[in-house]
Formats: sequence, C-alpha cells, structure tokens
Amino acid sequence: MSGAPILPGATLGVLGGGQLGRMFAHAAQAMGYATAVLDADPESPAGLVSQQHIRTAYDDPQGLATLAAACAAVTTEFENVPAAALQTLARSMPVSPAAAAVAVAQDRAAEKAHFVRCGVPVAPHTVIDSEAALATVDAAALLPGILKTARLGYDGKGQVRVATPGELAAAWQQLGRVPCVLEKMLPLAHECSVIVARGADGSLVHLPVQRNLHRDGILAVTEVFEGNVPPALAGQALAAAKSIAQGLDYVGVLCVEFFVLEGGGLVVNEMAPRPHNSGHWSQNGADVSQFELQVRCMAGLPLTQPRQHSASIMLNLLGDLWLRGPDGAAATPPWYQVLRLPGCHLHLYGKASPKPGRKMGHLNVTAASPEGARATALQAAALLGIAPF
Ligand code: ATP
Ligand code: MG
Repeated sequence: MSGAPILPGATLGVLGGGQLGRMFAHAAQAMGYATAVLDADPESPAGLVSQQHIRTAYDDPQGLATLAAACAAVTTEFENVPAAALQTLARSMPVSPAAAAVAVAQDRAAEKAHFVRCGVPVAPHTVIDSEAALATVDAAALLPGILKTARLGYDGKGQVRVATPGELAAAWQQLGRVPCVLEKMLPLAHECSVIVARGADGSLVHLPVQRNLHRDGILAVTEVFEGNVPPALAGQALAAAKSIAQGLDYVGVLCVEFFVLEGGGLVVNEMAPRPHNSGHWSQNGADVSQFELQVRCMAGLPLTQPRQHSASIMLNLLGDLWLRGPDGAAATPPWYQVLRLPGCHLHLYGKASPKPGRKMGHLNVTAASPEGARATALQAAALLGIAPF
C-alpha cells in the first residue's frame, strides 16, 4: 500500500453491495468521497446509494477492470469475495483488507489455526474432510458438538448440532460432505465481540467490547456500556483481537467474536474481515463509527481512537417484524411510535421484500446511562414485537 493518503474528492470502491457496503458508502460520502460498488444485484442496498454501481459478478474481469479504473482504493464488505479478485485489484491500487487476510477468514479451519498461532484460546475442534477423519473423531472430547462448513456459512447457516457419532455422520452427509469443522458445544454465559481498525502503518484503534445476544443463530441485540462485560474479560478480548490483527499484518476494520463461558473463560469464535453487525451502535454511540474507520484505513488517513459518548443498544430489525399482519401479510412496523422514544436512531437498508430472518435494518438506542438505554430499548422492542432481553 502506498504511503500517500487518498483525500476526499477521490472515489473509493467496495466489493459487495449489501447493507455493510451501503453504510460504508454513506460514511465515505459524508466525508466527501464518491463511491463505486461492484455487485451483480441491480437492487443491492449499496448500489442504490453509490455514484457508480458495476453490476457484474465478483470474478468478472471486465467488472473488476471498470472498478479499478474508477477507484483510488478498494475495500470489501463481504468475506466471500474470491481472493483472486482482491489480488487482481491489488496490482493497480491499495486493497484493504488484503487477499491473504480475507482468505484466512473465509475458511474456518485456517482461521482457527491462525487463532492458535496467536496463542488465543479456541473451542476444542477438529477438521472433518474425509471418511477417515470422520471415523477417528474423539467423541468423548467433541460431542455434543456443532458441525460447521469450513466455508460460506453465515447467520448460523451451514451448521448442524450433533450429539452422537451417528448424527455426526448424517450431518456431514447433509452438508454435502464438504470440508467442515466439528466444534465442541460449549456452555456459553454470553457472547461478545471487539472491533479493531489497523492502518498500513501499524497504528491500531478499537471500539469498546460489545456484548451480543444471538437468537436462532442470528445476532439480535448488542449492548455497549460500562460493566456489560467484566473488565478483566474485556481486557483479554481486546488483547486477543489486537494480536489476531497484528498476526495477519491486517489493514482495515476487523471484528473478532468471542464466547464467554459459564465459569468465566474466554474463547475466540471467529472473525469478520470487515465492519460487523455488532459494531452498528457506533454510528450513533461513538464519535467515530466503524464505517468511518473503514474509510480512514483504506484511504491512509490517521486513525484516532474512537470515544464512546453514549450508553448504546442495537436491536436488529429482521424481516419477521414486517410479517405481522393478518395471515402473515406484510405490514409496516410502528416507526412513528418508536421514533417518539428518546435516543432512537432508525437505520433501514432499502431492501424491498421482508423475509423471516432477513436483516432489513437496525435500531440504535443511545442514552446517558445504561439503565436509560435499556429502558428505552425494551420499550422499542415491545412496540416492534421483539422479545425482551
Ligand atoms: P455469523 O453470521 O455471526 O458469522 P456463523 O453462521 O458464522 O454466524 P457462528 O458464529 O459460528 O456462525 O455460530 C453462530 C452462533 O451459534 C454463535 O454466535 C453461538 O451462539 C452459537 N455457537 C456456535 N458455536 C458454538 C459452540 N461451539 N458452542 C456453543 N454455541 C455455539
Ligand atoms: Mg458468528
């Protein structure tokens, strides 16, 4: 990556047109950059708000050439872009994160190996990529467990819970006998995540530790305020996230997700080489959002330590909230009533059709105190039909 900063007025590119790309574009545009998005979907959330939308597949040579011609630097919002696409772009401009780092995050087995190299604790696990590997699983050590495809999983997709060797064999069959990681099922007290941003010069800043509640394998609620995680655990999580980023010589925004075990231990679950759903609160609860950090990293701008100024809670708005009319018909959630509550900030992604489990938007709740944020977030949740937490 060259040393010269890319200043506002330039065009910044993003591979992937989902909601993360859309919020990246908003942050970049607020700072005076133009944005270009590569995504085949003509209705993609980021494509709808960008100056330029290149509608091709990620591996289309013409599409990549058009993106390269338009942009001064490129980032990604989606970890499953082919590493070769990032490599091609990196020949002509700064690309962050780099293909090699994204490739590690694309593969659970490589990712776990990287965590182990960094000296960070992980769940007991093994790779299942053959009949022989399946036959030699240490059932006493790893069952009950979760079989996860090594590639292309998200929001709990590509995962099967298994209790016996017979169930494990059936699950591997069900997942198409693709390479998988079998992980021991751990007793979770809760989950948390840390977002770090690292510049090409090695400077590193972070957001505070985020406490996450998942429902049905999908993030439902993130809470960020003093005391949400014991300070010693927060310190361990931050140290682990830093060493994971440094070990990859990472440039960009990286989210590391952790399990906090009953009994207090911390293990790393996985990482995302991009802004993350659990960092969305920073749009309204911190003076620098995760998306501004992404812009600063890719443009070679200074990374200043973000300051959280409000206790914050983020509620994910899934398509289910729209499908509450008679007989499951689509109905608009009660935005007016929600927006009457103090400190409620609505973010919608411009997706036309709500579906169960589909991320349509999120609500950030900010307040002067954790109690205030919780009280308002619970009122908003009740209005929207989100179960209390
Ligand atoms: P994401 O969209 O967050 O990337 P994912 O599909 O990659 O999700 P994971 O993060 O691996 O899936 O798992 C989803 C959720 O399932 C976790 O947040 C956790 O609640 C639960 N889970 C996963 N692995 C384990 C485990 N080993 N023990 C207990 N619970 C687990
Ligand atoms: Mg996850």
